[in-house]
Amino acid sequence: MGGTMPELPEVTVIVKGLDKKLKGLTFAGVEYDWPKKFYWNGFSMKDLKGAKVKKVERIGKVVKIETDRAFTILIHLKLTGQLIYQDEKTRIAGGHPIPPLNSPVPNKTTRATFEFTGGGHLYFNDLRKFGWVKIVHSDQGSVDSAIGKLGPDALEISYKDFAQRLKKKPNSRIKKLLMDQAFVSGIGNIYSDEALWRAKIHPARSVASLSEVEIKALHKGINDAMKLAISKGGSSANSFVGSGGGKGLFLSFAKAYHMTGRPCERCGALIVRKKMDGRSAHFCPACQRLEP
Ligand SMILES: [Zn+2]
Repeated sequence: MGGTMPELPEVTVIVKGLDKKLKGLTFAGVEYDWPKKFYWNGFSMKDLKGAKVKKVERIGKVVKIETDRAFTILIHLKLTGQLIYQDEKTRIAGGHPIPPLNSPVPNKTTRATFEFTGGGHLYFNDLRKFGWVKIVHSDQGSVDSAIGKLGPDALEISYKDFAQRLKKKPNSRIKKLLMDQAFVSGIGNIYSDEALWRAKIHPARSVASLSEVEIKALHKGINDAMKLAISKGGSSANSFVGSGGGKGLFLSFAKAYHMTGRPCERCGALIVRKKMDGRSAHFCPACQRLEP
């Protein structure tokens, strides 16, 4: 399974669902078994109890739950986080597809359970425990410092800003740079492969070697790939776990990612997978050439 899931589209999809469902609900409490990654920052259960959800938003890959009190709840899904809301009638699930998003909750990957008056629960599951929950003061400064240094949002960055930021990193390899969250936030292994395929750029090209036309195509490729994934409900909704575990991801929108050995939709050459900077890059060796 790609180590950078969930990425921006998956988080966007779950945040939209949660915003609709949680708005107006009142917290009854929270339980968690991973205190190392659950930060109260001076707030306490007393503050949480009775607070109402005002809005659920996305900042990069972080889920932000605004309340009607002085605090905001931030949840970072990192590599394997999932969020599942469940009450008697509804289930909203998103994020990493392991364990399967329709598994019973709570389960052994459940790290935190927020309870709402009326009986609904929001489960934060995280198989590999890289994710975190931070309760922070709602002011912008506290939220920013809790999240850390993030580049502009991948879905919001303008072409001009994107091109200018690239110019400052001429020696970087393009795929690696796209996945750097301080350069631009929200892109991981899936959408860097997809955007580079769309722009016909080899993942190991240096930034300095890219033409203006290619940079334009790349900016568009990021947008198009992510918007398509969001419209299809994110990659998680379409994934399954094969009997051998791990493999078996099916992405209905994918042109390159996890398409190794299948014909390129544009030219028919077979998509290849190569280790690069410790990650797997998937690309078409015919229409994404390293040398012109
Ligand atoms: Zn091709």
